[in-house]
Amino acid sequence: MIPLEDAQSHVMESMKILESEDVHLLQGRNRIITESILSNESIPPFDNTAVDGYAVRAVDTNGATQEAPISLTVLETIAAGKPPTSTIQDGECSKIMTGAPIPDGSDAVVMVEWTEQQGNESVVIIKEEVSEGQHIRRSGEDLEPGDLVIPKGTLLNAAHLGLLASLGIYQITTVRTPTVGIFSTGDELIEGSQVLKPGQIRDSNRFSLLALLERDGFQTMDFGLIPDNEAAIEGTIKKAQDTCDALVTTGGVSMGDFDYVKTVLNRLGEMRWMQVAIKPAKPLAFGIVNELPVFGLPGNPVSSMVSYELFARPALRKMSGNNNPYRTIFEGEAAQDFLRKPDGKTHFFRVSADVGEGAPKIQSAGHQGSHQLTGMAGANALAILPDGNGVTKGSTLEFLFLD
Ligand code: AMP
Ligand code: MG
Repeated sequence: MIPLEDAQSHVMESMKILESEDVHLLQGRNRIITESILSNESIPPFDNTAVDGYAVRAVDTNGATQEAPISLTVLETIAAGKPPTSTIQDGECSKIMTGAPIPDGSDAVVMVEWTEQQGNESVVIIKEEVSEGQHIRRSGEDLEPGDLVIPKGTLLNAAHLGLLASLGIYQITTVRTPTVGIFSTGDELIEGSQVLKPGQIRDSNRFSLLALLERDGFQTMDFGLIPDNEAAIEGTIKKAQDTCDALVTTGGVSMGDFDYVKTVLNRLGEMRWMQVAIKPAKPLAFGIVNELPVFGLPGNPVSSMVSYELFARPALRKMSGNNNPYRTIFEGEAAQDFLRKPDGKTHFFRVSADVGEGAPKIQSAGHQGSHQLTGMAGANALAILPDGNGVTKGSTLEFLFLD
């Protein structure tokens, strides 16, 4: 058996980063940007009001209170998007709406809540003193021309897209998103609601894995169910070479007589078949077939998902240009005993990590067999139990969130 870290390093070292391409902003989320973006403008572009109210000269409000309000002459109403037309002088103000430009002569805004309009709307009562600059959002407060907005290598989130849009930048250069092919192998597998014949089960892995790939933002290509047959497996891998950037398969990588995925990978490419010192997901076949990385994940449903999390996900994230491909490891507190036997492996328990006061509380999410998807379905995290006898209630343990 090889340690998890060695197996991960082997996979990671073989992964290449995909080329960059220009995309529209709306395709940018979850991609890595490969150019640094500098601001070409000020954001906000002009001084504007943060509240609905009255643009005033702060000195004119000196001493104003509920009991001793002052009154000012209202010159005009300034809507967002409309430039002011009048300059504020002694004893004057203008009504102003959130986002509207501050008129010349004004240096503060009184919130509408602290005012009362007089009958003919040309006079307003001010019941609060404001200081210079109050409720004014200054030009360039968020970005000045020349500021670094987004450094290259950033994973773009929704706010990044908003920033780019606010600067009028709609085309960006990002690493291409990999298209990942997937197939299941196993003569026992069927898809459909028909009555199962003796020995048959329904393919579940392909659906879980397609969902994981989509969750992580990769393009998918479903090659369906492939029988335990060397020619069929080989044919599908070759098809994937023409259309995909990576391939994920499940089943056929352990010690059985009909485990042909690793046989075929061995023949077609640079394959390493590994027994990784983890439970679940011990067997892994990883290889490069004519530049196509192939992840031969194990067949047991929980194993296939855990193997995806530990190997395929970080590798595909690296391929997408992400230089922080692994999940963060957190510390939690065991809310129960997590006992295990020494066997040379790191165990990944399916758990729920409840975040509240103090350290997250870690509880079993149910059945822990590698064939028992219910435990995985109830889990929001994997607890990491190093080789040994496990931990008792109240101990600290490491875990990673699955999200
Ligand atoms: P294998 O790795 O092919 O030896 O499969 C290990 C176990 O996982 C066997 O019990 C298979 O029936 C089961 N299995 C393999 N592939 C799938 C699949 N796609 N969906 C559900 N179970 C599977
Ligand atoms: Mg099989």
